[in-house]
Amino acid sequence: MNAFKFIPIVLFLIFFNNEFSFSQIEKLNHSLKDLEYIEKTTYSSESVNTRIRFVVIHYTSTNWEQSLKILTKADYEVSSHYLIPESFDETYKEKDLYVYKIVDENDRAWHAGESSWQGRNHINDQSIGIELVNNSECYYQPDNKELNYKENYLCSFYDYDPKQIQLLIKTIKPMLKRHDEIKPTHIIGHSDIAPNRKYDPGPRFPWFTLYQNGIGAWYDNEIVDKYWQEFTTIKMPTILDIQCALKSYGYKINLTGIEDKQTDAVVRSFHYHFRPWDTKGDIDVGTASTLWALLEKYMPNVIDANSKITCVKE
Ligand SMILES: [Zn+2]
Repeated sequence: MNAFKFIPIVLFLIFFNNEFSFSQIEKLNHSLKDLEYIEKTTYSSESVNTRIRFVVIHYTSTNWEQSLKILTKADYEVSSHYLIPESFDETYKEKDLYVYKIVDENDRAWHAGESSWQGRNHINDQSIGIELVNNSECYYQPDNKELNYKENYLCSFYDYDPKQIQLLIKTIKPMLKRHDEIKPTHIIGHSDIAPNRKYDPGPRFPWFTLYQNGIGAWYDNEIVDKYWQEFTTIKMPTILDIQCALKSYGYKINLTGIEDKQTDAVVRSFHYHFRPWDTKGDIDVGTASTLWALLEKYMPNVIDANSKITCVKE
């Protein structure tokens, strides 16, 4: 049989099918043209919260000019949502102090790095970062194999400018109304969320002043006294109990039951935040009493009648 005689039939079928498809697409295009996109806001769900949960405070370790360069130029790959200068900085040329918003709150700034708080990792994804210009900094001896933060690092911490702190308070207060998930224990320092590698905002940062202005967490002295009495007269909590308590409050810590390097780093960060007059990182009865007082105030469910902490699961 001569196969060539079928060629016209095949061509006809291809042509017919194409014609059919073209007309379908035309119809579809036509109907899409008629449909106007209208977004209605008549209904809103009550099952909603804001994506931002944490506010993380930092110091920049350098002056205004350098801070601005580091936090805005792509080469450095770091940023924050807000940058607040300090008075008497010769590199800051404005007459008045201003709060500089350098990343929109809806965008993700790169300020936290590897970090964890209250069982959540990747804090950049869920936080607002605020950098304060301040020259405080810590030096390591990186070649020392026996690196021990208690002995071979050197920190210089400088007071914060009160005007800068006033501006910080004015920055955070309306933020708490915008983001309903920012609870008192969600306002933290970089060293709280990365205790093994960060020291900022350091022990000179006025956490208590912020608390007096309705921002962040602080303990009640009479509750600290209650636990101090209990721990000195009955029994001091074990290292494992203290690790459990630190973990329940928010710190990332492995429950080893021994006072190891990671525990020292977390205790030092806790001291920077809540006992800044005593920052050697030693675990003493004051540390335990302060920690238990915070838990009783903000997480009462984790303490039982015998002052034992129910450890949060891994
Ligand atoms: Zn930092």
